[in-house]
Amino acid sequence: MSAITLSRLTKVYPGGVRALDALDLSISDGEFFALLGPSGCGKTTLLRTIAGLEVATGGTVEIGGRNVTNLQPGVRDVAMVFQDYALFPHMTVQDNIAYPLRIKKVGRAARQDKAAETAAELGLSALLDRRPAQLSGGQQQRVALARAMACHPQVFLLDEPLSNLDARLRLEARTFLKRLQRELGVTCVFVTHDQAEALALADRIAVMDGGRIRQVGTPVEVFRRPANTFVAGFIGSTPMNLLDAEVTGDGITVAGVRLAVPEAARGLVADGDQVVYGVRPEYLDLHAEAVDGALAGQVVVVENLGSSSLVSLDLPGADGSAGVSCQVVVPEGREPSLGATGWVLPRE
Ligand code: ATP
Repeated sequence: MSAITLSRLTKVYPGGVRALDALDLSISDGEFFALLGPSGCGKTTLLRTIAGLEVATGGTVEIGGRNVTNLQPGVRDVAMVFQDYALFPHMTVQDNIAYPLRIKKVGRAARQDKAAETAAELGLSALLDRRPAQLSGGQQQRVALARAMACHPQVFLLDEPLSNLDARLRLEARTFLKRLQRELGVTCVFVTHDQAEALALADRIAVMDGGRIRQVGTPVEVFRRPANTFVAGFIGSTPMNLLDAEVTGDGITVAGVRLAVPEAARGLVADGDQVVYGVRPEYLDLHAEAVDGALAGQVVVVENLGSSSLVSLDLPGADGSAGVSCQVVVPEGREPSLGATGWVLPRE
């Protein structure tokens, strides 16, 4: 069993930076769990504190029901893969993979056998005698994973494991990592600031900000049901539109236009509430002609996204003043001209 439970976990660095702030989190046995958040929010510190590479200032870390808060990294039964892989440049692939077994005082023949076996599982058999400098980025990443796997840890901790790979290799490595984790059935916690990676790989995601967790959920939950405007603004390839609105009767008024209350918010709001109306640019339609009940605005920017475009419009405020910005994704070939008026309507 390798569930991880963090209770009131706090890390204050010398100098007073509170990198983790009384953080509570439960990660299930066998889960593929992502830590996601902006730079400096405490992701790496959290991973290193679970690994025992940082000493917690307060709170506890339990792994598999065992309180490991005051244990050394070597006896926590976790393996960490670092962003730069941290391979030993002077050692061969085989010796790199065997290294943790050497630390555990496994005999030479047994550890070389084990390293060769692990290398075979990751498709590295032909590379055993090479040194890290003679490998591609993807191969180095596999060696780092093999080294982590060689000791059969209960928990894998991965710090931005794919960030050194180019876009194509990254996609390949993503699929590989997910398959490997499923096959090994180990608990895996990985840090990323790439939300597409987190959404694609993770069973659940914790979105962090300022040493705290703002939401924990499945990729679908954090994408479709963000718990707050921070998560709403952070998740999604284009940021969610967050527009000030007022609940009026059974609808909401946004920039002077009445819209239906979105299904997700029904029952949560009451007449007269001042709210933030969040809607993703992908869930809005843009019309070139006036449509009843649509938000009218002026097209100010059109950005090409490849097979679609992101259109920014300025919507007039409720009192006629300009300045509320709204973004809409439109399919290829449907881009409006700059300066044109567009009518925006949430998709049914
Ligand atoms: P990034 O995505 O940029 O790697 P992160 O979310 O992993 O960021 P951390 O590296 O955990 O963030 O840092 C959290 C906070 O702690 C930051 O404000 C950082 O400056 C600070 N910090 C990290 N390491 C130390 C240290 N050794 N001493 C003092 N402050 C530190």
